[in-house]
Parts: sequence; C-alpha cells; structure tokens
Amino acid sequence: MSKKVLIIGSGIAGISSSLKLKSYGINSLIVDKGNFIGGRISTREAKIGINSGFFFHGAQFFTAKTDIFTEIIHKGIKSKYIKEFGNFSPKRYRGNKTMREFLLNLSKGLEIKQKIKITKIKIINNRIHVLDNKKKEWICYDGVISTLPAPQNYKLLNEFSLLQETLKTGSYHACIALMFTFDQIPVNGKNYYDFYKKPGILSWMAAGSNPYIWTAHTNEEFSDLNYNKDKDILKDEIMPAIERFFFRSKIKFHSLHVWRYAKVESKCLGYQIDPIYPIAIAGDFLEGPNVEAAFISGQKAADLIFNRFQTSL
Ligand SMILES: Cc1cc2nc3c(=O)[nH]c(=O)nc-3n(C[C@H](O)[C@H](O)[C@H](O)COP(=O)(O)OP(=O)(O)OC[C@H]3O[C@@H](n4cnc5c(N)ncnc54)[C@H](O)[C@@H]3O)c2cc1C
Repeated sequence: MSKKVLIIGSGIAGISSSLKLKSYGINSLIVDKGNFIGGRISTREAKIGINSGFFFHGAQFFTAKTDIFTEIIHKGIKSKYIKEFGNFSPKRYRGNKTMREFLLNLSKGLEIKQKIKITKIKIINNRIHVLDNKKKEWICYDGVISTLPAPQNYKLLNEFSLLQETLKTGSYHACIALMFTFDQIPVNGKNYYDFYKKPGILSWMAAGSNPYIWTAHTNEEFSDLNYNKDKDILKDEIMPAIERFFFRSKIKFHSLHVWRYAKVESKCLGYQIDPIYPIAIAGDFLEGPNVEAAFISGQKAADLIFNRFQTSL
C-alpha cells in the first residue's frame, strides 16, 4: 500500500509503530527532536580516561509479558544485542552492550531522522499537514502517529480535540537521574541497588555499560517534589545518599538529568485515533509505565492507522 506516513518520536512506541506498519507493507518516516534514537530508553556517553562507556540514565532494563515483546527479546538475545540483566523473576533485560544498540538493531531498515522537531500539525484542504523546525514548510501526510509524552502531545495536537481529551486524562511521575563514575571498580562487587519501597530518596542505582559508570534514580516522592530545583542544589542533596553505599570507593559526579515525564502514574483513557482524520497517538501513557507497554501502544496505533486506510480505500 503506497501511503505517506509520519511517526513523531523515535522512542520505543515510534519504532514499534513503524515496524508494525512495515509488516503491512507501509513504509513510514520517523522523526525525532533528540540527537539519538530511543527517547527515554536513553544513554549518555562518558569519556573518562580509559574507562569510557555509557550511562543508562533513562530506562534501566525491560521485561516482557506479551508474546510479541517476548519474541522481540528472544530475537535480540539470539542476535546478541539484548542480554539478561541480573537474576530476577520475572526476567529483566538490557541492550548489549548499551540500550542504544537494542534500539539501533530493532529499528534496522526503518527510516529515522534525528534532530527534527515537529512544531505544528494542522488540517489544510481536509488533509493532515505538518511543520518542522528545519524545512519550515507544511508537508502533507496520509497518516501520522504522534508518540510524544502526553502533555507535550496535548500541545502539539491542538486541532484534534478528541485526542486532546484522551491526552489530558493521565499523569506522570518525574525522575532525577544522577550519573557518576569510579576510578576503580567498587569494592563490594555489586552492580545494582534496588531501593523499591525502602526509606530514603533513591529508587534504583546501577552500573551502565561497564562497572565504572553508574546512574542513580531518585524515587517518585523526592522527584515530584524537587524536579524544578536548581541542578547544583539537587546534586548536593543526592550525592550524600549515593556516597554512603560506596564509602570505601572514590566517586566522581558526572552529570544530572531531570526527567519531568518519566514514568506513567495513571494511564490516559479515550480515543487513540481521531474519528475523522488518520492521526493516532501512541506511548506508555496509553498502556502503562514501562518499555513493553509503550511498544504495545505503538503496535495498536499502527493497526488503527492501517485499518483506517483500508476502510477509506
Ligand atoms: C528515569 C527513567 C527510568 C525508567 N526505568 C524504566 C525501567 O527500568 N523499565 C521500563 O520498562 N521502563 C522504564 N522507564 C519508562 C520507559 O522508559 C518509558 O515508558 C518508555 O521508554 C516510553 O517510550 P515512548 O516511546 O512512549 O516515549 P519516549 O521514549 O519519551 O519517546 C518520545 C520521543 O518523542 C520525541 N519528541 C518529543 N517532542 C518531539 C517533537 N516535537 N518533535 C519530534 N520529536 C519529539 C522525544 O525526543 C522522544 O524521543 C523509565 C523512564 C525513565 C525516564
């Protein structure tokens, strides 16, 4: 089927949408405002002497409950770009050696352009037109899937009131990611700390692509209260909470990233596709607070767009 489809966002929901459309014979273009593929499955490169590597400052691992995502994981393990992380039940997985490699391999054969920000979407002559920050001219598409976090999607989709109704129903927790390094591998040999439901301000802390490079995440309570604070103040508040676990190792602060829309607190309910125009939304905000849920929402958005094309033939 020859259709011109735009997918906004190269996170897992956008990649999943594009893969599903491809399975129907529809090629799509993914654009993303960021420098790298992956959205919140994010990596940051650190070049620190001989110990260079990648922080995983967004999602730390992913799990699989559905058959379709389990299949994706098995394929990735077989091709060595996914590996099991730790010894958990249910099993947890990471990209090998980085989260970015998971996304780059998963999206092989898809057309993706980074550093393009979509600034407006509107209907001209009964068709969807999109404006970006590079070309600065309206481009017409047969179908669009928009995968921005719900509050950002809400602003972009101001001509699509029923999708906006959906997008305003959910909410997110923030998360503050503090990245730090070691000169030597920490003495106790652990590669992660899980603080789930434990007192304090951290929720999780783990090594990235090697044991010298770590990220700590603050818990929902601390993050929601503090994400607006100055980064230097945040650093001074968070570092002591980390240091007490590594009192015999030398820690070096690297950087701090604030995720305003980190994990879905409550899902959005309502239309996923506009009742008139072939424009759909996808993202974790529709299915749940994790990578697999975002993937599933992308599959559903692609189905909705494909079905709309079928009925309008
Ligand atoms: C700190 C943190 C820790 C997490 N830990 C885990 C975990 O361990 N396990 C787990 O399963 N999940 C975890 N999650 C949640 C998981 O990362 C997300 O649920 C999932 O990645 C969301 O994917 P998405 O495609 O819906 O959205 P995103 O990944 O946010 O993708 C949206 C994309 O849209 C792009 N974009 C935004 N505006 C525009 C625009 N105007 N034009 C073009 N592009 C635009 C963005 O750059 C982004 O790449 C974590 C999230 C965070 C932040």
